Amino acid sequence: DAMVPQAELVRVRIAPSPTGPLHMGLVRTALFNWLFARQHNGTFVLRIEDTDKERSEKRFETEILEGFSWLGLDWDEGPEIKSLEYKGSYGPYRQSERIEIYKKYIQKLLKGKRAYHCYCTKEEFEAERQAMLAQGLPPKYSGHCRDITLPPAGKSPQVIRFRIPETIVAFKDIIRGKVQFDANLFGDIIIAKSEEEPLYNFAAVVDDFEMNISHVIRGEDHISNTPKQILLQKALDFREVAYAHVPLILNPDRSKLSKRYTETSLLEYRSRGYLPEAIVNFLALLGWHPEGDNEVFALSDLIKKFDLRRVQKGGAVFNQEKLDWLNKEHLKNLSNEEIVNALLLFFKARGIETPKELLRKIVSA
Ligand code: GLU
Ligand code: ZN
Repeated sequence: DAMVPQAELVRVRIAPSPTGPLHMGLVRTALFNWLFARQHNGTFVLRIEDTDKERSEKRFETEILEGFSWLGLDWDEGPEIKSLEYKGSYGPYRQSERIEIYKKYIQKLLKGKRAYHCYCTKEEFEAERQAMLAQGLPPKYSGHCRDITLPPAGKSPQVIRFRIPETIVAFKDIIRGKVQFDANLFGDIIIAKSEEEPLYNFAAVVDDFEMNISHVIRGEDHISNTPKQILLQKALDFREVAYAHVPLILNPDRSKLSKRYTETSLLEYRSRGYLPEAIVNFLALLGWHPEGDNEVFALSDLIKKFDLRRVQKGGAVFNQEKLDWLNKEHLKNLSNEEIVNALLLFFKARGIETPKELLRKIVSA
């Protein structure tokens, strides 16, 4: 299969923004990336996308590292290397530490006239948007500042925009097959607020190239970013990347998974006493179905069985009862001593010191 290259060429990444508690959806995407890397003897990279200074917080980054470690999703490259099989450095792995790298490429695009400074203020942009809506047109930036070479009197650059070519962008998604977008609908996208302040689409494209990423496996909510990223890759002469967009996780009413229906933070499940094995097993089954009837798998079984090409296109409903059932199944597989150790941690996290001997007696009873 052309989409699955030589084993040693697999380099995937999970690229969370540390702007909130570690969400189960992100964990599922991390798991799919990790499984794909492990089964192809590839590399799993953890990249922290913290260019949004207002919303990024260190404590959320710590939560990501802690959550992945707890589940056994070890990363080969990232801010804190846990694996012994460290395979070389494409760091730093926090976007906030890579500003000079992005700057170089922003300047390249500006110089080649593939990007330009936009002087439109928020108010002007908003007026333009309203005018388009009034005409019944889908709103997009008009390209007003495309050919301005000197700053208009009394105006300063507001943002940097990428000149979107008039074209259809098509790509082959490992899960969804052929996907195509009409780039004429985008308008010239904002790639940076200034040379030192890149935005997501731009920084991600630069990093995926600089970090030699082979496959981008991410949530379906990013699918409309993919054509923009492909156009940026082309403008920068970057090589192509393979894409797989995994289905969204849904509430039972098929709306996007939210706290309205269930807890979404991984660490909350941990503190409620769920086993990491059960969570990993449960998340693997959100969008992927093994061949055969057995659904109870350890992480090591999943490496053997998981198949990205068998991931479904449609949304995957989060079923709390299934998680509870899997937790029970994995609990049954633990020895008494393992249960005692898990309980010790569980109580310790609550500041309760319990004598091990007592726990042993309770568990065996
Ligand atoms: N920082 C983005 C996010 O958290 C990464 C998306 C991607 O994988 O490209 O959703
Ligand atoms: Zn403008």
